[in-house]
Amino acid sequence: MSQLVSTDRAAVVVAGKPVASQFQPVHNPARTDEVVGEVAVGTAAHVERAVAAAADAFPGWSATPATRRAELLLAAADDLADHVDELATLLTREQGKVRWESMIDVGGAAKILRYYTGLADRLAADEVFRRDDRGTVHLGRRPVGVTGIIVPWNSPVYLAFLGLAPALLAGNTVVVKPSEYAPLALGRVLDVLAAHLPPGVVNTVPGGAEAGSALVAHPRVRKVFFTGSTATGQQVMRGAAGNLKNLSLELGGNDPAIVLPSARVDDRLVDELVRAVFTLSGQICFDVKRIYVHRSRYADFVERYLDAVDRIVVGDGLDPASTIGPVNNRPQFERVRDLIERTRAAGATVRTVGRKLDPEGWDRGLFLLPSVVTDVEPGAEIVGCEQFGPVVPVLPYDTDEQVVAYANDTEFGLSASVWGEDREHALSVARRLECGSVFLNVHRLGASDMTMPFGGFKGSGIGRGHGMYSLDACTELQVIADYVDVSGFPGPPPS
Ligand code: NAD
Repeated sequence: MSQLVSTDRAAVVVAGKPVASQFQPVHNPARTDEVVGEVAVGTAAHVERAVAAAADAFPGWSATPATRRAELLLAAADDLADHVDELATLLTREQGKVRWESMIDVGGAAKILRYYTGLADRLAADEVFRRDDRGTVHLGRRPVGVTGIIVPWNSPVYLAFLGLAPALLAGNTVVVKPSEYAPLALGRVLDVLAAHLPPGVVNTVPGGAEAGSALVAHPRVRKVFFTGSTATGQQVMRGAAGNLKNLSLELGGNDPAIVLPSARVDDRLVDELVRAVFTLSGQICFDVKRIYVHRSRYADFVERYLDAVDRIVVGDGLDPASTIGPVNNRPQFERVRDLIERTRAAGATVRTVGRKLDPEGWDRGLFLLPSVVTDVEPGAEIVGCEQFGPVVPVLPYDTDEQVVAYANDTEFGLSASVWGEDREHALSVARRLECGSVFLNVHRLGASDMTMPFGGFKGSGIGRGHGMYSLDACTELQVIADYVDVSGFPGPPPS
């Protein structure tokens, strides 16, 4: 029997009003018998209503001066900043992540809104692109239209706002589809945001594939910001073909970390690589998913790394003694657990270390202790896939050629890191990697800040987010050519 502790409801909300729907429970992954709240099962009919509301609100919102839109978004940011503490607790209870991670996630709403409002003047007026004897050419940015924002469960609030803030500032109206696995804190944040804006500017349809695919295929939706797995991203691309939607795809990753011969294998390096792999239990798109260590450093690295990983404490994210929390949902838990079992059965050495915070309550949660895999082939499943859980393979290599080939031998291309004291060598390796970001001697949250373009090569996505890159992604460039002299243009002679 599920135990209802305190309920929270993530409803379908259209133009500020809840809409009737079926609901399903949201469980606490640290205690799966505890129901944290309920989430609406959004349908294609809900999407229809939400898109209609967003389309009705579009003429008014897009005609509102960008500076006024920024004022309203700033007021929403101030309001949201007051709720971070309370909502971070809710997020940990539904998502599982430790509390400091939830503070960053929920705190992202106000932070990202404030950042983008600072760019309002870039949208406020058209620029003169060219002025000469032939006339004046103006260049403006216009909103794309109704925008769908589809969000995964790992960092639901932060990732939603990376699309929402630039989309709204640019004059688009939105329909947000939170993940069915982490909808509650985001639902509350969206309610606060929507209350500061005209009705219909922000609408929410929680749910799974039915709501997501209906939003992607809807002919009145002109733009989709999708963040999620590469497999779903491929479906999104197919579904969006009907009206040739403008797409931003932030997809999966299989980030390599490359430890060069010049690396000093000390506590700092080892601790950074623990953070790089195990933050959010390995469930961040740009967590390190595989480590390649130069053979001259390999044995030393593995020994120290195992010691450091062994210090990880796995438990309820609300307990400050936990270093990492549970995996977010049962399908993902079973996927990672089965992958570890297959890796072991295939002959690799899997060392499962770390400490259970609450051994008695262990089986109530979706907990996995951290695992380090050695004696594994470069082509093994655990090396080639996006495991998205607290397990990492560590492999030796001999030459730059070899490790660059290993690193690039994947359909993913999100990020990578290169570790060593020889900066020039690290830079030369970095430039050969097929991915959107390469970090030197670090690889964790904060390494790609809001101003730096972020996105993937190959199967890790299309387009770039953050900064002006996101504003570019949710606006169309419009040229207005005001000619006074067209005599030089080609054409048949006057009759
Ligand atoms: P997912 O692809 O399963 O789901 C993402 C979202 O898409 C959810 O809201 C889901 O309900 C919805 N969805 C499911 N089927 C759909 C369909 N047919 N059409 C439209 N929407 C649909 O991903 P997930 O498991 O929620 O998240 C983990 C994945 O997200 C990982 O692969 C991770 O790397 C990736 N991710 C990428 C980034 C990035 O910035 N590149 C950031 C975070 C997470």
